Amino acid sequence: MEHRKVAMVGPGGVGKSAITIQFIKNHFISLYDPTIEDSFQKRIKVDDILVNVDITDTAGEEDYRFIRDQYMMGNDGFVLVIDSTCLRSLVELHEFVERLKHIKGDVFPCVLVCNKIDLTSERTITIEEVRSYSVEQLNSCPVVETSARTRTNVDQIFYQIVKQMRYY
Ligand code: GDP
Ligand code: MG
Repeated sequence: MEHRKVAMVGPGGVGKSAITIQFIKNHFISLYDPTIEDSFQKRIKVDDILVNVDITDTAGEEDYRFIRDQYMMGNDGFVLVIDSTCLRSLVELHEFVERLKHIKGDVFPCVLVCNKIDLTSERTITIEEVRSYSVEQLNSCPVVETSARTRTNVDQIFYQIVKQMRYY
């Protein structure tokens, strides 16, 4: 059985846990303890091949640099999440990306996720900005626009990251 380890990475409040729970349990959690770090498994089929995906939903702040470095070393693929209604989240994500590059080297399997697209009237980050960031900083990795609330494109994130991991 193919086995892949993926970490959900990004600033607090962007929806890492909501996406993970929606993917694993098929429902939207509106309040989830922001300090909980947990792992989940799900078996999916990607291009007709079964794969067991192990997802670490990371949590915590800057002070936990050591823990963060640990998960960065222990995982092969990274789901990088920003909040489409919060421009600052892209700036904050960049710090994680710099750290990842430091540990993993310039090229690693990742997907850039722009979440909360159900909040259309509050959107402040355009798809062009997200795509440019992927091109300039992440070797043109796939960009997925999601809503954990409506489940829009949530499965797509994990299909794409598995494909990336197979490719690298
Ligand atoms: P995390 O810190 O990245 O794990 O963020 P959470 O998953 O805890 O989500 C932070 C807040 O954003 C919670 O109140 C969620 O209910 C909300 N949230 C997460 N994803 C979405 C989404 O796609 N749409 C909307 N409207 N709210 C979301
Ligand atoms: Mg969380």
